Amino acid sequence: TDLSKIRNFSIVAHIDHGKSTLADRLIQETGTVEDRDMKEQLLDSMDIERERGITIKANTVRIDYKADDGETYVLNLIDTPGHVDFAYEVSRSMKAVEGSLLVVDSTQGVEAQTLANVYQAIEADHELVPVLNKIDLPASDCDRVAEQIEDVIGIDATGAIQVSAKTGQGIHDTLEAIVRELPAPTGNIDAPLKAMLVDSWYDAYLGVIVLVRIMDGTLKKGQRVKFMSNGTLHNVDRVGVFRPEMQMVDSLGPGEIGFLTASIKQVRDTRVGDTITNDRHGTEEALPGFKPAQPVVFCGLFPVDSAEFEDLRDAIDKLALNDASFSFEMETSAALGFGFRCGFLGLLHLEVIRDRIEREYNIELITTAPSVIYHVFMKDGEMIELHNPADMPDMSKVDHLEEPRIKATILVPDEYLGDVLKLCQDRRGIQLDLTYAGSRAMCVYDLPLNEVVFDFYDRLKSVTKGYASFDYQMEDYREDNLVKMSVLVNDEPVDALSMMVHRDRAEQRGRAMCEKLKTLIPRHMFKIPIQAAIGGKVIARETLSALRKDVTAKCYGGDATRKRKLLDKQKAGKKKMRQFGKVDIPQEAFISALKMD
Ligand code: GDP
Ligand code: MG
Repeated sequence: TDLSKIRNFSIVAHIDHGKSTLADRLIQETGTVEDRDMKEQLLDSMDIERERGITIKANTVRIDYKADDGETYVLNLIDTPGHVDFAYEVSRSMKAVEGSLLVVDSTQGVEAQTLANVYQAIEADHELVPVLNKIDLPASDCDRVAEQIEDVIGIDATGAIQVSAKTGQGIHDTLEAIVRELPAPTGNIDAPLKAMLVDSWYDAYLGVIVLVRIMDGTLKKGQRVKFMSNGTLHNVDRVGVFRPEMQMVDSLGPGEIGFLTASIKQVRDTRVGDTITNDRHGTEEALPGFKPAQPVVFCGLFPVDSAEFEDLRDAIDKLALNDASFSFEMETSAALGFGFRCGFLGLLHLEVIRDRIEREYNIELITTAPSVIYHVFMKDGEMIELHNPADMPDMSKVDHLEEPRIKATILVPDEYLGDVLKLCQDRRGIQLDLTYAGSRAMCVYDLPLNEVVFDFYDRLKSVTKGYASFDYQMEDYREDNLVKMSVLVNDEPVDALSMMVHRDRAEQRGRAMCEKLKTLIPRHMFKIPIQAAIGGKVIARETLSALRKDVTAKCYGGDATRKRKLLDKQKAGKKKMRQFGKVDIPQEAFISALKMD
């Protein structure tokens, strides 16, 4: 294809501002997909994405567009994920295209993820085309939002395109703007092959599918290529493009985006950001490398029914094949038996994986408290990376601990600002900045990641009635007074409930935990002490009184079926319990106990 007739772009937006709907409309308007095959949100393929309306994996589509100038252009759209956990995927797919549509909901305005994503687009040197969406709604206010884009982002938005991705209004203007305002890619067809590995995923029929952007040279079917990061060689079986279904082509040239397959078995064998070249006389210089995505949040996953451990292993193996950013290792817990310690990019990533195991593999799970990686500096000078509070070494041998801190940006309407500041303060936050954009405040906070991983986002939503938006990036590790808090039920430590806390908050946290557990653990025939402790020292205590009433006593032995029903019901209830010493703890207790109110 003639380079001057190619436009490569992505769409950046805050979640729910209409990115997927706009992509669907662009595909439909250009007749890429027949109307009868058009289903909503064509590019969001996973069930969980559809249900939650989020895009997790980057997706791609090639569109042919006959422009008003009479020429036909090839438009390659890469749909990037819209959530903080996947910021890394956004940054890598950005490098494969020259421009972005900046979509802002004209009834809402700029939000935290708009900013986070637009900064990444600017970092990748993108040309930006502002698009104001949802103009069909009465609350739409294009002038106000255009002004806000200029104030907050600092780009000219006077010519912003006004669109309704719902009705199709403005879609033609958008396509014209893509052709007119975005730069064509550059590249040398006579140079050796240089292709960027943008993304990869596993397909049951074709093996690993590798999404590539060709920089120089040509990629052909049958060619032997080298992945430069590890020197592995592969024979290219197929070359193709997404329309959005796969269509095979003979070759891809400079500026083009498409895929290859090469009988690669595991996603782990493909490194995002890698450079692909010819096996002989290849390019000398690899593209600037991308950093691999690092898990930052860890938790234990255990089957409720311990007989399902092997099934869980299978499920995790399969999911990991397709998700290089998800890490795991076996873990045994005195309380929960065999399970896995897993690492995730963030809380949403954790939720997505957990959901898929429960849904697609039908395994009920107990999830332990999410934890971050602490750096434990020992008195002998050694530094240990602590992924699991249960592995915390004896404090007498520890010199100090460091924890990861983040920089969080929160946008919130004025009236909720006080509650947001209080929440950040309660979570050991340090205010870095507070500015206004119209009637919205933008606060920037330095926060410990461990205070954010559990339920910060839920709390933020509830105190602002859903009007705040939130985004964060990792900053650095810093020393603080951190301790391990253990929980004992009936004098038995429940390792799955132990957690790292700040010393100043330990009593408060311990008390809250004991009180909560008291409501979550059913009463038994005997008295049960529930305690929180640091080292050997008890810092909080509750007692669950003994149960007296016999549940079947009221049946007088007269109605046998009713009695059996009651017992069956009890048994069913039991299945979801775990036994600790003599005490049964229901699985919900593990999750609920760790939420703070
Ligand atoms: P994304 O999260 O940015 O991909 O947003 P979606 O495309 O999933 O859109 C979020 C919601 O807004 C969905 O319910 C869409 O139907 C709706 N939506 C998107 N564009 C428009 C529009 O132009 N007008 C109206 N009224 N609703 C829209
Ligand atoms: Mg979407």
